[in-house]
Amino acid sequence: MKVLMFSTRPHDQQYFQAALAEHPEHEIAYVEAKLNLDTATLALGYDAVCVFVNDDVSRQVLEKLQAQGVRVVALRCAGYNNVDLTAAGQLGIAVVRVPAYSPHAVAEHAVALILCLNRKIHRAYVRVREGNFSLNGLIGFDLMGKTVGVVGTGAIGTVFAQIMAGFGCRLLGFDISPSETCRRLGVDYVPLHQLWGESDIISLHCPLTPDTYHLVDGRAVEQMKKGVMLINTSRGAVIDTQAVIRGLKSGKIGYVGLDVYEEEAGVFFEDLSDKVIPDDVLARLLTFPNVLVTGHQGFLTHEALQAIAHTTLQNLADLATTGKCNNLVHPQ
Ligand code: NAD
Repeated sequence: MKVLMFSTRPHDQQYFQAALAEHPEHEIAYVEAKLNLDTATLALGYDAVCVFVNDDVSRQVLEKLQAQGVRVVALRCAGYNNVDLTAAGQLGIAVVRVPAYSPHAVAEHAVALILCLNRKIHRAYVRVREGNFSLNGLIGFDLMGKTVGVVGTGAIGTVFAQIMAGFGCRLLGFDISPSETCRRLGVDYVPLHQLWGESDIISLHCPLTPDTYHLVDGRAVEQMKKGVMLINTSRGAVIDTQAVIRGLKSGKIGYVGLDVYEEEAGVFFEDLSDKVIPDDVLARLLTFPNVLVTGHQGFLTHEALQAIAHTTLQNLADLATTGKCNNLVHPQ
């Protein structure tokens, strides 16, 4: 297939070029631009577009793509909340994704955020580099025996639960479809209000859907333990950021680790180091000493990038040869 990849960064090109050795039937052109209504015209003459988490795959964009002959949208990620699946179905555009490229990559990143926030590594690193070896303000807590709430116990949530079980944590879970693997691991499935109320650490691993939009809102924050640590590596809009900022200011929330942010599009994946951050809410978040933000890098491991490139090219090959693919995404 002739494929146009949007939102390309150097690592995408590096891993896809390597994977093309196994798929000489495909041809990929790379553009840095995000897919949106203006850039959709670039896809003229291509069979497929390959997109990422912040590309705009709304109805209008899909209509434009279809008018130009595009018949496949290949997501090089697991989440598909940015795609209008109903419109794609009506327009005869197949949508494929990479459901589980490396749950370890994201789960381990969530744990990295926990360890860094708890032991204040981000602060200690800067302090020591400036010759300040004082320990004042660096007290953490043992993870052993703490209660960890896992919201969404699918591929990533399960690996996360396994790691936290290794630290000796008590595990609470919430999922619309509980996992037997997690139950065997000792995850106790409880109603959401109980998970909010009993957890010392809460980690979000559910997809963004109408049901999970602002799942962590002001009411949820009120129900949480004072000093709770909140970790989000799922999708930004699962959290109402303003409610979390209020929780941080009141001291109700003790730590926040975010790899995703509800208004991340246009900011994350960009180098804005010589510019003013245009988003006041994000700018406020970055002022808290107990908040750690990474720019959606949970997936960014060698193994995950290899798997993403391989599965995406295999998805396209399956569609081209059989018209079918196990990784098709259907409207809910
Ligand atoms: P998955 O489909 O294996 O698991 C998701 C789980 O969430 C499922 O068990 C599902 O039943 C559950 N769920 C669905 N709706 C729910 C609800 N309303 N309440 C509670 N649970 C609900 O997906 P996964 O591979 O584990 O990925 C989870 C999410 O992580 C993705 O949807 C994506 O948004 C995010 N993600 C982030 C990164 C990153 O780089 N930060 C990378 C990959 C995935």
